[in-house]
Amino acid sequence: MTKPAGPVITVVGGGFAGTALVLHLRRQPALAQARIHLIEPRPAPGPGLAYSAQRHEHLLNVRSGSLSLYPDQPEHFAAWMLSQPESTAGQPEFAPRSAYGRYLNEELTAALHPATGLPVVELHATSAVAAPPLPDGRRTVRLANGTSITSDYVVLALGNFPPPPPAGPDLRYLEHPGYHANPWAAGNVRRIGPDEQVLLIGSGLTAVDVLLALRQDGHRAPITVVSRHGRWPAAHEPATTPYPNFFDKLAHETTVNGAVAAFKRELRVAAAQNIGWQPVLDALRPDLGRIWALWSLAEQHRFLQHLAGLWAVGRHRSPPQNTAAVAALKAAGLVRMRLGTVREIIPDGPWLRVRVGPYGEADSWLTVQHVINCAGPLLDYNRIADPLVVSLREDGQLCPDPLRLGILTDAAGALLEENGTPAAGLFTLGSSRRPAYFESTAVPEIRRQAVDLAAEIAGRETGEIA
Ligand SMILES: Cc1cc2nc3c(=O)[nH]c(=O)nc-3n(C[C@H](O)[C@H](O)[C@H](O)COP(=O)(O)OP(=O)(O)OC[C@H]3O[C@@H](n4cnc5c(N)ncnc54)[C@H](O)[C@@H]3O)c2cc1C
Repeated sequence: MTKPAGPVITVVGGGFAGTALVLHLRRQPALAQARIHLIEPRPAPGPGLAYSAQRHEHLLNVRSGSLSLYPDQPEHFAAWMLSQPESTAGQPEFAPRSAYGRYLNEELTAALHPATGLPVVELHATSAVAAPPLPDGRRTVRLANGTSITSDYVVLALGNFPPPPPAGPDLRYLEHPGYHANPWAAGNVRRIGPDEQVLLIGSGLTAVDVLLALRQDGHRAPITVVSRHGRWPAAHEPATTPYPNFFDKLAHETTVNGAVAAFKRELRVAAAQNIGWQPVLDALRPDLGRIWALWSLAEQHRFLQHLAGLWAVGRHRSPPQNTAAVAALKAAGLVRMRLGTVREIIPDGPWLRVRVGPYGEADSWLTVQHVINCAGPLLDYNRIADPLVVSLREDGQLCPDPLRLGILTDAAGALLEENGTPAAGLFTLGSSRRPAYFESTAVPEIRRQAVDLAAEIAGRETGEIA
């Protein structure tokens, strides 16, 4: 086989992150001769986990105007959306996630067609299982279908993994038909009967999705929600004039308390002008990673212990119609919040007995037919069982961070080996980069990473970046 004229770039994972990266790699003139391989086992590449949802009540939690794949064409998605059936009665402010999945799939599918002067993109509908280094600095990406790709660059865009078991050490409940380990599994809630007793673990955006899906399917019985902080995601406010960025006022704050105090001072300034907390928080969004990086590991840990729950409520907001639907269910007594942590789940015939431990109070037991784990994705790469992750971890090429948020990387997204040096030609983007940025989950942040990583790889090819 003749050696390709340009570099071989293998992107593992064809969700939003992998798709955005492929599209931005194609825009780099220095990579015109590159060959890009995209590895994605899902039948339709592009939507990934988040946007494969086919239920119309599962909405994007970001306005259309912020979801373009291309930062230099901010209205690209909103304009595409206008031509879609969902916009017949006017463009929805928060579009269904399924529509966004179609957008990603269409853009990616177009990139799979060969075009003069652009890199070739080849899709492999399978998983990657290993990516060991070769003596010449390249890597062999081994695929589950038995083939392999010798690559100059390998990028992990693996996305979100289902939540870990919420309670132990007795794990028999994992095999119980009423325990739903993966809240995003298609058709998951459809097998729940209308009068069956359901308990949700967690009260974030996933719990809201599950509640709405259950109601849509005709579920009638009250639902118990167990939450550590007892709060639902805040609602998006109507779009307003952006608040001016004030990162300079936090740029020297190396403690969580200092940053919170500076933030509160700004809230008071804004309140004096009748501006609420939402635009103030949003003004800092481009700099959240920099604020996080100013803190020591101990300070980051302090934030995770004491503020992460409150942060998630304010930062990851819900479309107002979803917030209103949850409020209506609460008012009708159909959703009951239990403050606490799920400590134990014991199968008992068709039932699951759940021990809930509220902070500072005696534990109590609840008996239900279904427990749905909505506690958020597994971030701890020590516990992720994906064969590719396991093999890279065991080789010391992929190192989980001490706070168990993701993978240790350098500023460009190169994975750091055990000795702290960047692994040859191995990068990641998306939620795996939470140790460096903390906020590395949503489209606007991942899109930025895709643009920067494409430029990084192009720069390495031209020699502008060593
Ligand atoms: C249910 C849900 C809803 C969300 N809604 C929003 C929203 O409205 N707005 C927003 O900004 N963000 C949202 N997010 C955040 C989301 O993380 C990002 O928007 C984005 O979709 C992440 O893309 P990703 O490619 O990193 O991950 P994913 O979408 O998870 O894609 C990763 C892909 O990698 C593939 N993969 C994994 N391992 C391998 C392997 N070994 N070999 C080959 N392929 C592999 C998987 O099959 C998967 O398709 C949501 C997240 C979830 C879970």
